[in-house]
Amino acid sequence: MGNEGEAEIPTGVVTRLFLDAALAADAVVPLTGERVHYLRNVLRRASGDRVGLFNGRDGEWTARIDRLGKAEGTAVVERQIRPQTPEPDLWLVFAPIKKARIDFVAEKATELGVSALWPVFTRYTSVTRVNTDRSRANAVEAAEQTERLSVPRILQPAKLQAAMAAWPGERRLLVCAESGAAQPIAQALEEAARDATAAQGAWAILVGPEGGFAPAELDALRKVATVTRVGLGPRVLRADTAALAALACWQAILGDGSLRPPDRAA
Ligand code: SAH
Repeated sequence: MGNEGEAEIPTGVVTRLFLDAALAADAVVPLTGERVHYLRNVLRRASGDRVGLFNGRDGEWTARIDRLGKAEGTAVVERQIRPQTPEPDLWLVFAPIKKARIDFVAEKATELGVSALWPVFTRYTSVTRVNTDRSRANAVEAAEQTERLSVPRILQPAKLQAAMAAWPGERRLLVCAESGAAQPIAQALEEAARDATAAQGAWAILVGPEGGFAPAELDALRKVATVTRVGLGPRVLRADTAALAALACWQAILGDGSLRPPDRAA
């Protein structure tokens, strides 16, 4: 693609990279790992080329690649192009699914602005382990592409029972259930939008495995004070579809879906 596309983007930055280093004018930051390979061999970038950098704390900055070796390099930070702004606090708590679908969920949930992903094992979860490094890599890549200023945290996988026992009291939880007494999700969210404490508070969405929740699990969830059981319409959705549908509804009503996209053609 080269540099031709850059003029169309106001910041002049096409490649965005997430890293951990502190970002400030003139700082020299290390470029490491997979992204050195990606910059060099996939994007064919070289010394002097410009990239965008963000670390989840200091906003977004432009930087010039200083040195790009085979396995590591450095970049010199130039100027801040976006300050760090607060983002909605919405967790996606989900029963892990097969590898390709969990990759999909990590990527799409990041695009839809979750602040954390929490894999929880339920009674009918057939997957027995989750590769959190892999989910983290998917989330980083999606955050870079989607112009986010942060990468969602991947919380330590836990059993549903333990997760509920340790549930942070003030975080409201929407449990997606395809049967039984469930309030339509839009109705539950619109009620919450009328209550300032709820609207500005911390939230989570819980989605079950392909086999659904066990009745005993739904009973136990009912006892968690901040739980609302919600439905996503009459169709039975696959777990990944249900997660994305619920996240999109939440963003539209309580999240940042009301903000206009920036004028990227300017
Ligand atoms: N119980 C079904 C399917 C489970 S679907 C079975 O036994 O095959 C997987 C998960 O997606 C569910 O646990 C639920 O969290 C969510 N889900 C699917 N369709 C839904 C709907 N219409 N409303 C709310 N949640 C839904």
